Amino acid sequence: METTQKYIRVTTIQDAVQQVKEQTNAIFVAGGTDVFVNKQQGNIEADCLIDISGIQDLKTVVKNESSIEIGALISLENIALSEEIKLHFTALIQAALAVATPVIRKTATIGGNVLCENRCFYYNQSEWWREAVGHCLKCNGDICLATGGRKNCFSKFVSDTAPVLIAYGAFAILIDADGEKKVPLESIYTGDGVVSVGLNKTTLLKSILIPYSKSKVIFKKLRPRKTLDFTSLTTAIALDDKQKIRIVIGGVDPKPVVLDADLSKEDVQQIIATAIKKPRVVENDFYSRLYRKDMIKVFVENSLTELGIQVNSNIN
Ligand SMILES: Cc1cc2nc3c(=O)[nH]c(=O)nc-3n(C[C@H](O)[C@H](O)[C@H](O)COP(=O)(O)OP(=O)(O)OC[C@H]3O[C@@H](n4cnc5c(N)ncnc54)[C@H](O)[C@@H]3O)c2cc1C
Ligand code: SF4
Repeated sequence: METTQKYIRVTTIQDAVQQVKEQTNAIFVAGGTDVFVNKQQGNIEADCLIDISGIQDLKTVVKNESSIEIGALISLENIALSEEIKLHFTALIQAALAVATPVIRKTATIGGNVLCENRCFYYNQSEWWREAVGHCLKCNGDICLATGGRKNCFSKFVSDTAPVLIAYGAFAILIDADGEKKVPLESIYTGDGVVSVGLNKTTLLKSILIPYSKSKVIFKKLRPRKTLDFTSLTTAIALDDKQKIRIVIGGVDPKPVVLDADLSKEDVQQIIATAIKKPRVVENDFYSRLYRKDMIKVFVENSLTELGIQVNSNIN
């Protein structure tokens, strides 16, 4: 296993952006609850960790008339405790509380959560385990152990907060040496399980901006135990006051799968059928592929019903 050669603490955004440019093979570390586990298992090969946890400018929550901007270093615990978020974005609280355990949520940040690494049964194992079964595409091997294919990695997207944020129409505020930019959160994910986030390593996530809206969002998560476990399926479904729905599915495909539909023009059964078909689900989880596909239908139908939409289910 390669060892980390450098650990650099920074206290300003400018310093973080400068340092990450100067170091070779560096990555940022915020709460470290994802980075250190992956580092320990030999799944991260960075030579330098840049600790951004001391940057005060990433710890602010700014409200204005049309949106709320949550600093990337706000912990999941503090998200769950926020009265403003509870008032306007209840599903985000549910999603934050569905991550890991209370102790992890004290350290884990919202920025680290939306950027955390994809997971796979064949990959998130110790180094000797992976060596014993043979390396897969995500660790420089030439085959996907889950599918037998040689082209694509289907490690699953596991952030629980990202699907909810996307359902609310959130943006990522990014900073690099060229300045700041605002992009729809869903646009940063590649869909490639090997490199699931498409940001340059020198880009810092400054904050998440969520526009206030009249959307109601229903969050659901499937996992073996009600605590600690990563997701086997996460859904976040939004309905606005114009009958537009946004279905976001995590925990199955390498990226959050987004489906926008207009209930005033489209058939609800057709929308559900598309939601089941769209995610690329493979056998790389505690639950089988078919069970997770069945559960997409159950979650989508139940969420739509909770949103007051009539669903004529043929599930017994
Ligand atoms: C036992 C256990 C259970 C877990 N269960 C869940 C779960 O149920 N659901 C879930 O979603 N996650 C889970 N996680 C994963 C992880 O704890 C969370 O996703 C957490 O929110 C990550 O935040 P962090 O601040 O610790 O990120 P870090 O580990 O510090 O970083 C994660 C990634 O984001 C990058 N990064 C962090 N902040 C920035 C930034 N501001 N700009 C640019 N890049 C950045 C890092 O380089 C790294 O690639 C679990 C982890 C453990 C150990
Ligand atoms: S989906 Fe395949 S290539 Fe990707 S991590 Fe799992 S086994 Fe490896």
